[in-house]
Formats: sequence, C-alpha cells, structure tokens
Amino acid sequence: MNINRKINIISNKNLESIKTSMKLKEKLSQRGFIISEKYDKNAELNICVGGDGAFLRAVHRNNFTSIPFIGINTGHLGFFQEIAPVNIDNFILKYINNEYTVEEIYLVSAEIFTRKKRYYLTAVNEVVIKGTHSKVIHLDLFIDGNHLEKFSGDGLIISTPVGSTAHNLSAGGSIVYPSLKTLQITPLAPINSKAYRSLIKSVIIPGDLTIKIKPEHYYTNSTLILNDGMEFKYDNIKHINLKISKRKIYKLVFDKDIYWNNLKDKFI
Ligand code: NAP
Repeated sequence: MNINRKINIISNKNLESIKTSMKLKEKLSQRGFIISEKYDKNAELNICVGGDGAFLRAVHRNNFTSIPFIGINTGHLGFFQEIAPVNIDNFILKYINNEYTVEEIYLVSAEIFTRKKRYYLTAVNEVVIKGTHSKVIHLDLFIDGNHLEKFSGDGLIISTPVGSTAHNLSAGGSIVYPSLKTLQITPLAPINSKAYRSLIKSVIIPGDLTIKIKPEHYYTNSTLILNDGMEFKYDNIKHINLKISKRKIYKLVFDKDIYWNNLKDKFI
C-alpha cells in the first residue's frame, strides 16, 4: 500500500472534469494514497484534470511548484494533458510501478523596467508584447545587447519550446522540441512598407541570451503584456528583458512517443 503518499487533484469546474476527478480520487484512495482536492505542498504529484487552459492556471496559481504534474485531458486540445480519462487505470498502475520519466519544462521570465519600479512575470507558453486597443506598436529589439530591428506591427511573441505549439504556431512560428533550451521571437502582423521594415519570420535563439524589447517613447504607456494569455499593463515602461527562467516545472511522461503522436493527432 502507498501509506502517507499524498497526491493533489486539481480540476476545473467542467462536469466531465468533476466526474473524472471523483473517479480518480476513489481509485487512488483504494490504493492507499491520500488525496487533496486543493494544492498541498507536501504532495508528491499534481494531477491536473481539464485542458491546457486548466494546466496553465494550475501552474500559475501554485507559483510554478516543483511538484511534478500529470494531466488528464477533459479539454479541447490537451497538448499538455497526456492521459485520456479512459486510461486512468493504466496510468495508476504505471505510476505505482514507476514506469515513467520526468520531463523538465523551460519557462520564460520577463523583467519589466518602468521609470519607478521593476516587475517580474513568468510564463509557461509565452509572453506577448502588444499595443493596447489593437494599435500598431513600434519596438526596438535587442538580442544579447545587439540591436536587431525596429519592429512595427501588432506585436512580438516570445515563446518557450512547449509554448511553440500555442499562439506562436498560429502566428506562423516553428515547432520547437521541448528539451531544446531556446526562446522564439515571432512577429505578429509585421509591417513591411516604404515606411517600416520588420523581420517577417521568427528567430530562435539560445535561452540564456537576453532579449531586450524597448517600446518607442510614444508607446511607453500603451504597451500591453500577455503572460500565458493573462493581460498586464504597466505605466512608463522603459524596457523589458526576457530570457529562459531559472525556474522549471516538471511533467511526468508515460509514453515516450506522446510528443510525436500529439503533434500528428492534434495539428495535422
Ligand atoms: P485558452 O482558451 O486557454 O487556450 C487557447 C487554445 O490554446 C486552447 O485550445 C488550448 O488548449 C490551446 N493551448 C494552450 N497551450 C497550448 C500549448 N502549449 N500547445 C498547444 N495548444 C495550447 O486561451 P487563453 O486563456 O487566451 O490563453 C492561454 C494560451 O492560449 C496562451 O498561452 C496562448 O498560447 C494560447 N492562445 C492562442 C491564440 C492563437 O492561437 N491565436 C490566441 C490567444 C491565446 P485546450 O483546449 O486544451 O485548453
């Protein structure tokens, strides 16, 4: 029996997720696990029930905990969520027998320098720098201290490898294998005219180089930052530094081919 082994079940409020969570709780309790339906910092595993949105919320609400996650997919896409509800029994058996590997997930950190203060954000998928009210924005982009371009358009997406299949992919960026410690800078509707010149394709860089984004003077109060889809707005932004975070999160992997199967099943 698995005495004193605690597992958190973090679920969204959909009916399918609630039913799946109840089934999980019953089956894991029968095996001797102690189940917490809220985040308990002494647990050994977080089981997240829902889709990718539920996974992202669970990670943010629990402050990028180092307790590993596994996802049961009751959502639309479920790219992060490896286990289908019909495979719960098999998952429990494999978990008890330690038949899994632990994958590290790189995160992106943003340091926002305003005239008065410094703010910090961390994202699993991406940080997007845009103009407020759907306005065109002009941004100076530096990589490792080198000025690359003055970007003009809707904005820039800075995505992690796991985030490369999210907003980045819809914006024409490339898919990056999760173990590559890189960041991708992808333009959103870049303007190319006699007035403005911006790169029209994404750039993939080593994750330890710093990306610096400086809004043109006029835009210091009209820059919007999206952190995994959540909106943040700061006054008097001087510049924003982005790089791979020192923090990581962890995910259990039961099927070594899941990444390629997911890509084929969910995107092609
Ligand atoms: P959301 O409704 O929670 O998510 C939008 C869609 O993106 C959902 O279908 C979600 O899957 C999927 N998704 C999330 N992370 C993914 C990943 N790493 N790989 C593949 N698909 C992924 O939207 P939100 O609350 O605004 O923002 C959450 C995330 O959605 C953002 O981080 C952003 O990447 C993405 N997003 C994409 C677009 C776009 O593609 N044009 C626009 C805005 C936001 P589930 O159905 O399983 O939840």
